[in-house]
Amino acid sequence: MENFGHSLKAPSYRIQPKTSEEIYEAFQLARKMGLTVNARGGGRSYNDAALNGGGILLDMSAMNRILEWDSATGVVRCEPGVTLQNLWEKVLPDGWWPPVVSGTMYTTLGGCLAANIHGKNNFRMGPIGEHVVEFTAILPTGAEITCTPTKNADLFYSMISGLGMLGIFTSITMQMKKMHSGLLEVHAWPTHTLKEHLQSLEDGAPKYDYIVGWLDTINTIGHGQIHAANYLHEGEDPNPQKTMQLENQNLPSRLFGVMPKSLLHYFLTPFANNLGWGLVNTCKYIASLRRSTFRESHAAFHFLLDYVPLWELSYGRGGLIQHQSFLPKETALQAWIEMLALAKKQGLPSYLGVTKRHRPDKFLLTHAVDGFSLALDFKVTDGNRARLYKMLQEYDRIVLMNGGRFYFAKNSETSAETTRAFLGQETIDRFMKLKKRCDPNGLLESDLYRRIFCKQQTSSLRARA
Ligand SMILES: Cc1cc2nc3c(=O)[nH]c(=O)nc-3n(C[C@H](O)[C@H](O)[C@H](O)COP(=O)(O)OP(=O)(O)OC[C@H]3O[C@@H](n4cnc5c(N)ncnc54)[C@H](O)[C@@H]3O)c2cc1C
Repeated sequence: MENFGHSLKAPSYRIQPKTSEEIYEAFQLARKMGLTVNARGGGRSYNDAALNGGGILLDMSAMNRILEWDSATGVVRCEPGVTLQNLWEKVLPDGWWPPVVSGTMYTTLGGCLAANIHGKNNFRMGPIGEHVVEFTAILPTGAEITCTPTKNADLFYSMISGLGMLGIFTSITMQMKKMHSGLLEVHAWPTHTLKEHLQSLEDGAPKYDYIVGWLDTINTIGHGQIHAANYLHEGEDPNPQKTMQLENQNLPSRLFGVMPKSLLHYFLTPFANNLGWGLVNTCKYIASLRRSTFRESHAAFHFLLDYVPLWELSYGRGGLIQHQSFLPKETALQAWIEMLALAKKQGLPSYLGVTKRHRPDKFLLTHAVDGFSLALDFKVTDGNRARLYKMLQEYDRIVLMNGGRFYFAKNSETSAETTRAFLGQETIDRFMKLKKRCDPNGLLESDLYRRIFCKQQTSSLRARA
């Protein structure tokens, strides 16, 4: 099995359960065989969250039924292997949209809750967990539990964000958001310095439903673009029934109506080097210099990365990793200037830089801050793996020094020491106490868990360096 970016690999035994009973049977088998168990949803984590070298991986993709949908209230109950794509395609024609989505629609609800994903509206809507009405889960003991913000609240706030280490979600009930159009009104404008970029995110956030930034992290630090979007109010779309139909949302499968987009990543491969991406970034920046306002479908705005299927393969044999840092608004500028300058100095530039505005939340292993995040994609090669690992360790040091946090669905190198420093011993103790209660025999483990809580490097970047 591999991570999303194909940069980490870990062999494991795959079991594909269809029911809670089959999950429990997998736990019993693991106990008998002395193995550990980890769930895998869509396998879209950039790091080792959905890997379990030498152990059992529960492939949750067959538990993918939408169990109940109430188009009057917008409440939906799903099995955990339902993807965001399955979900929005079900609810949008009835005038609803998931309140929080990731930058790809191929994630599953189980994976989204385990990481407690954020969207481009994190500053306004919080993480996905804030829209969960109820979930059920099976624990390694065989106990089946139901959690809401008030019933089993300690488990509600720790299993959401808990990286699948306390139990396996078996059903998820969520509140969708009412829509009056299948379109968003998008505003795009350029930024010329990092300071201006962060100011734009901060000033823009209160005025928009969504805001996201792109940064040229290769050429001139701070060159970038902001995209901000608002929902249309009732009456602003002359034909909402039409714009909410799936054929007006779906990303086209062919480029210019001719070339299958599944082939596009082959054409990107020659650009996946410092020079090529430098050129792509320059062109993108020049194209972004004109301010513009336009209407765009929800799917096109949110899932831009899904436009090019398998784009991650264009990074070549070594694959890619992402480093996402979350910094308070007071320290983000100085921290990121230091980090981006270091990448330049080391000759290890990030090919894609994405910024967002965030606010804190009350989930136990939260990654959010009152500030910003910067996600940086790096190409991994046999030649740069060790240097990259070292540089990202330095990144983690800078983030910690500046009061920042880390996201466990992204970073591949964050160590147990760094985890303790940013989460705090008290939070880790609380999590471990809950783990002992839910999983007394320690069956649930992942490569990520061993790396951030047990000081073991398994499929991490360093292990292969
Ligand atoms: C292109 C791209 C864009 C992205 N954009 C964003 C973004 O905008 N915001 C964001 O927050 N994240 C983003 N991500 C990260 C992604 O949302 C998370 O990694 C998410 O957890 C992936 O969901 P998944 O179903 O693929 O889970 P996996 O990667 O398969 O697993 C993730 C975690 O969930 C656990 N898990 C899976 N199913 C269950 C279950 N049923 N019960 C308990 N635990 C379970 C796994 O054990 C693992 O710890 C992006 C990823 C990609 C590839």
